[in-house]
Amino acid sequence: MPEPLLRLQGVKKSYPSPAGPVQAVRGVDLTLEAGERLALVGESGCGKSSLARLILRLADVDAGEIWFEGVNIIQMSDRALRPFRPRLQMVFQDPVAALNPRRTVFQAIEDPLRVHQRPDRAATVARLLAEVGLEAGLGQRYPHELSGGQKQRVGLARALALDPALLIADEPVSALDVSVRAQVINLLGAACRNRGLSLLFIGHDLAVVRHLADRIAVMHLGEIVELAPRARFWTGAAHPYAQALLAAVPATTPAEAAAKTPFVLQGDLPSAVAPPAGCSFHTRCPHAEPRCRTIPPPIVQLAADHWARCHLLTPGAGTPSLGSGGPAP
Ligand code: SF4
Repeated sequence: MPEPLLRLQGVKKSYPSPAGPVQAVRGVDLTLEAGERLALVGESGCGKSSLARLILRLADVDAGEIWFEGVNIIQMSDRALRPFRPRLQMVFQDPVAALNPRRTVFQAIEDPLRVHQRPDRAATVARLLAEVGLEAGLGQRYPHELSGGQKQRVGLARALALDPALLIADEPVSALDVSVRAQVINLLGAACRNRGLSLLFIGHDLAVVRHLADRIAVMHLGEIVELAPRARFWTGAAHPYAQALLAAVPATTPAEAAAKTPFVLQGDLPSAVAPPAGCSFHTRCPHAEPRCRTIPPPIVQLAADHWARCHLLTPGAGTPSLGSGGPAP
């Protein structure tokens, strides 16, 4: 098997806090193939953004390995990492904070090209502006003269400037008006298709990733609890937490509304300082059994490309419906 573009193996990270170490990422294994679009979804505080920072080497892992283009980048010095930096780029959640208010649009997009001494910078900036649907005349404007959607397009153009292999988009539309979210999502999808670019899209809203992702990974309290191809996930998510997230997506047709299983998630995300023993979801799960409170659930392979962590699932048994269940214990 060829090495995937990105491979995470047993990645862990905790951060100090007055209450004790916050276990942000608790042993994540994940792969991303070249040209693949993977959505990582879960509630705020589940560790998604921490994982993105580790992949970008903006923070160091406590344990585990991160392989990118066949190289373990965990132990690399900043100098050794330099050739990889252009290949790994990020689109940030807040386009206002991501842009320097004193740099014009042209300068903002040109900056990475200049730092990496790329030729034909003016022509490249013009091409990037066109690619993200911005008029050439906008190049002379400052961020405060742009709408939120235009700022995020500038952020995307800048992230694409160095021809990356992997784009990490961390909640790139959650700060935008609903009316422009679809435009930015479509742009991201087009950029990936046209460039053969891999995308790790981080979000909390499954409706947003519905038409974008090839595979969906669900994260809860620092762990991946389910991973499946998009179509399979949409019709047969197996983990109760994934089912709860799906149930929260508004139906777009009467038939979809009729087919929906009501599932209201009880309570808040438990503290990452002291994650619950056993299954980390047991305090909110309507199906929890006594063993869920003490024994960590195994990874259950439901199909070749689909797995979930839950005591109630059976290997190779497809995607059983766990039903709507009762209230959380
Ligand atoms: S292992 Fe138990 S608590 Fe965890 S998701 Fe499955 S049924 Fe719910």
